[in-house]
Amino acid sequence: MLVRLMYASRAAGSVGQAELLAILRKSKAHNPALGITGVLCFSEGIFLQVLEGGRSAVNQLYNQIVADPRHTQVELLSYEEIGERSFAGWSMGQVDLARLNPALLLKYSERATLDPYAVSGEVSMALFRELVATASIVGQP
Ligand code: FAD
Repeated sequence: MLVRLMYASRAAGSVGQAELLAILRKSKAHNPALGITGVLCFSEGIFLQVLEGGRSAVNQLYNQIVADPRHTQVELLSYEEIGERSFAGWSMGQVDLARLNPALLLKYSERATLDPYAVSGEVSMALFRELVATASIVGQP
């Protein structure tokens, strides 16, 4: 039984590029054994992450992530049972913000900034799908 979960959160004060890399390293080390795939985006202090995998594995990891002091205001945006993965290629991919076209953000929101708190979970998921389609995700499987 596969599920897909998406949440947004705000980075705690000290989180910068080094912490982001540490989180990605840890994710890539842990997720394959858990059968979890997904994508993480970090922009202007906001995390947006999609996790896919078995229901128990995803729920367990999500609870662990929620308790992580490196971020706050964790808000569940969407949770669904799925027949197949959309982000199977990444143990934890990272959105390459350098390749993020502002027009893509404007397509889905009022301003060309990533603000998942201001749009529906459906819109954030649509944005993620386009990022994958336009190869704006980096990171080894
Ligand atoms: P350790 O890495 O040794 O951590 C032990 C404890 O210390 C944990 O409670 C951890 O939250 C905390 N901790 C670790 N480093 C720091 C730090 N620099 N400052 C403050 N507290 C710290 N983990 C995954 O496995 N897969 C993911 O996809 C994933 N995505 C994440 C996304 C976000 C936005 C964040 C913030 C964290 C994510 N994590 C992910 C990390 C996860 O929350 C746990 O920290 C990690 O899984 C625990 O790894 P560990 O058991 O090896 O313990």
